[in-house]
Amino acid sequence: MQAIGANLIAMVGGIRSLLVSLALIAVAAWPGSARAGEVVRASCHASTVLNAGPDHPELPPTNEWVCDNTDFADSPPVAWLFFTPTDIAGMQVTHFVTDIGRFQTMTLIAMGPDGPVRSRSYRMADVDIYANGPKFALPLPDLAGATGLVVAIEKPWTARLSTRAWLQDQHGDADSLGWSHEGMLAVAVVIGMILVSLFHHVAAYSLMRQRAALWMTATLGSLLLLTLTASGMIHFVLDLRLGTIVWLSTLALFAPACIGAGLLTHHMTDAELGENRRKLLQGGAIATFTIVTLLCLPLEPLRPLGPVVLLVLPVLLFIGAAAACAEALGNGCTRARFHMAMWGSMALVYVANASRATGLAVGSDWIDFLLFGGTMLTATFGTMAMVSNVDSIRQEKERESARLDALTNLIDLDPLTGIFNRRAFEQRFVELRSDGFHALAVVDLDHFKMVNDQFGHTTGDRVLQEVAAVLASDRDGIAFRMGGEEFVVMLRGSHIQQRAEQMRRAITIRIANEVDGIDGPITASMGLIESPPGGASTMRQLYSHADRLLYEAKYSGRNRLISERIQVFDAPARERRVQDRRQAVRP
Ligand code: GH3
Ligand code: MG
Ligand code: MG
Repeated sequence: MQAIGANLIAMVGGIRSLLVSLALIAVAAWPGSARAGEVVRASCHASTVLNAGPDHPELPPTNEWVCDNTDFADSPPVAWLFFTPTDIAGMQVTHFVTDIGRFQTMTLIAMGPDGPVRSRSYRMADVDIYANGPKFALPLPDLAGATGLVVAIEKPWTARLSTRAWLQDQHGDADSLGWSHEGMLAVAVVIGMILVSLFHHVAAYSLMRQRAALWMTATLGSLLLLTLTASGMIHFVLDLRLGTIVWLSTLALFAPACIGAGLLTHHMTDAELGENRRKLLQGGAIATFTIVTLLCLPLEPLRPLGPVVLLVLPVLLFIGAAAACAEALGNGCTRARFHMAMWGSMALVYVANASRATGLAVGSDWIDFLLFGGTMLTATFGTMAMVSNVDSIRQEKERESARLDALTNLIDLDPLTGIFNRRAFEQRFVELRSDGFHALAVVDLDHFKMVNDQFGHTTGDRVLQEVAAVLASDRDGIAFRMGGEEFVVMLRGSHIQQRAEQMRRAITIRIANEVDGIDGPITASMGLIESPPGGASTMRQLYSHADRLLYEAKYSGRNRLISERIQVFDAPARERRVQDRRQAVRP
């Protein structure tokens, strides 16, 4: 019942996040809402080798310009953009806005009718204006009298990204460049949800000390880094250089899958996920992370490898994770379904992010928001996997405590008769008293030694079993075998004395009916003490009192009950007197 409850909470939480993320995608990706204000895109681009001029690289010859809305095929030594006179005619623009990426130099050249008139050059270290979104902005040279603008990007890491570059007017408002405020608001909500989930898992870890909770926290941390870098929100939080941001963005692209592999392998038991697959996945994640970290180094020979590595490397990791999920699922691990869904969402995020980072999804605004929707789904399914695990941990704990209970019961039971033993009586006395068991009867068979002597030990054992069955039959009584042929019954409720006497007599009848080979009645003697709640009697006091009564019964001829009721008067403690009322019941 509780298991269904926990799963239901997980499902409801998951569906809620799903709806919110879908709504966010819808709002943020609404055509035109992605950008703040009007923007100008370049009509033509060109790729050349580097022929350095005095102020900027030598312009490509006219016939090298491609003006057909296509993208850069690869990353050339110099990538050129041409904002033609038609592009910028009548437009009020102040900045060149482009996606975060590595480059050597960017030169913005204002073109007059007879060629370049003014230019401004920037290196990565010069970049200090960040736009909303994963973008930065470079102030344009004075365009007065200019008929066009040419941008030369030397050694771009991913030239295709530049196809998305645009010219924009800052309007004197620092936040007006790049994505719209609605888009950034949607991102803020995503960040908020990831943070809530992250704190939740930190709390879960401090409560349960479960390593998977720590991995989930790390996975959420990586999703947070991804969201911060992929949205440019990181500029609001930290003051970082462009080089650091590029490095963090690439790391964030791979981190969720690498850490997610750690989560997956730590969340599955040995029975659910085989050792080989576990090792393979962990090794793959470590290798991927190492290679990416190395490739993040700004080394020229690595430049052409960038997109290939981005697109190919994690595919192996995703295949490995899917295989691990399938194996766990095959081994009956139901939470592997959530992991599968989590990896599916992560793949969506990865495809969106990688195609954006490599410039494959050039010009597509909604892919950015697909990325954030997928990020939310990843966090949601991860949380669902964790919640369903909390459930199985609880079930395992319950099974453990049931096993412990059974064991405890076993050492508390008398092996011959199956009722509680002396140990249980000593352990439970106080608890039973507070549960209202205020009467204590000590029962001893009469001349039992003779039964053994006459009919044999085995018959004696049968007799003891029947005695125990009789004493355990009172619904408001608990029977203990104290040793040998002596028993104790604790009783509560009304008509205690009658019930005790009934039991004592029932012993004789039952033995006569159930144990073969005994001629003559087997009787029992009983001492009963009733002590109401107010009387603070210890176990030892009550027991020895009842034992005295039992021996009185024996000495007065056996086969009888002698009982006493201790009455406590509500008098000052010093004068409080205990008055005994004795009664002997004979057959
Ligand atoms: P009394 O009426 O005075 O109680 O006499 P009694 O013979 O019942 O008392 P006594 O204490 O002399 O003898 C108890 C006998 O109980 C002795 C022992 O052989 C027998 N006994 C103790 N434990 C067991 C047991 O587990 N199985 C059997 N068959 N006999 C037992
Ligand atoms: Mg006896
Ligand atoms: Mg005895």
